Amino acid sequence: MSTKPDSQARSAQPDMAACIELYRCPKCRERLLSQDGSLACARCAALYPIVDGVPVLIAESQSVFRLADFTGRRDTFFAREPLLRRLVYAVLPDMSKNRVAPANYRLFSTLLFENAERPRVLILGGSILGTGMQEFRAQSQIEFIDSDVAFGPLTKLVCDAHDLPFEDGSIDGVVAQAVLEHVSDPYRVCAEIHRVLKPKGLVYAETPFLQPAHSTPYDFHRFTHIGYRRVFRSFGVIGMGPVGGPGQALGHLWEHFLSCFFTARPLRALMLVFARITGFWLKYLDGFLNKRKAAMHGAFGLFILARRNEKPLTDREVVDECRAYD
Ligand SMILES: [Zn+2]
Repeated sequence: MSTKPDSQARSAQPDMAACIELYRCPKCRERLLSQDGSLACARCAALYPIVDGVPVLIAESQSVFRLADFTGRRDTFFAREPLLRRLVYAVLPDMSKNRVAPANYRLFSTLLFENAERPRVLILGGSILGTGMQEFRAQSQIEFIDSDVAFGPLTKLVCDAHDLPFEDGSIDGVVAQAVLEHVSDPYRVCAEIHRVLKPKGLVYAETPFLQPAHSTPYDFHRFTHIGYRRVFRSFGVIGMGPVGGPGQALGHLWEHFLSCFFTARPLRALMLVFARITGFWLKYLDGFLNKRKAAMHGAFGLFILARRNEKPLTDREVVDECRAYD
């Protein structure tokens, strides 16, 4: 769910000195000090490397990632697709169409400016620009912190979302587009998002529902709309709905279904071509289908735009609230 970054997006980054002032030790949340090209925790003495100007604030004992993954520049997350597959993807029509992200980011932006003149937004999975984020990410009045567990053109901070290296209540908005399926404990990540947000802070997330596994082995979860609402039970919903609908879900499952018949790469690539040509149009049906409540039950993915609440919903309240979508 991502597109290439643009130069405007890069220009909105805060400088390194300001970032160091803002960052905290992911283990004990104490301030960090610059020390011999690294960052050192002022309390627990943990040492965090800076790789090509990017601080790597990973609490190694609590993460699936190791600091050596980053100092050694291993491919932590984005496995490189085979050349043939990349060529096929480049020339064929896309199976996906995100109809909601641009409008959702516009609303997210409007709400952010109601809370702050210069809002600070943490982007999780922000090594590359998320789909539909171009206009939002180009806003110079917003201070963006692009974080990820991979190096990419926009990465300014490497951190694990299970242990966000920020003080409580220090962020105005968090974006997690195509992120929560990739974390081992989405409840802990949401608790972290809640912790770092200011009292009326906002979160925008997009997460798959009926979508084949991708970026394996880091693909842990899928959510129904009720399950998704429960993950965000400490937030009040401003908007929630399908990102891609049943048509898009069927297109992707059709492609995966066909590819399962073959193991040889050339044959799988040929099947991919066939699947794309015969199935790309299914996404256009979502323009019609997504107006129906049933679309939520068979969506390709779901989005949520929500505001931090002080009291989490009980499970009964989650179920009662979600009756509106049935
Ligand atoms: Zn520490």
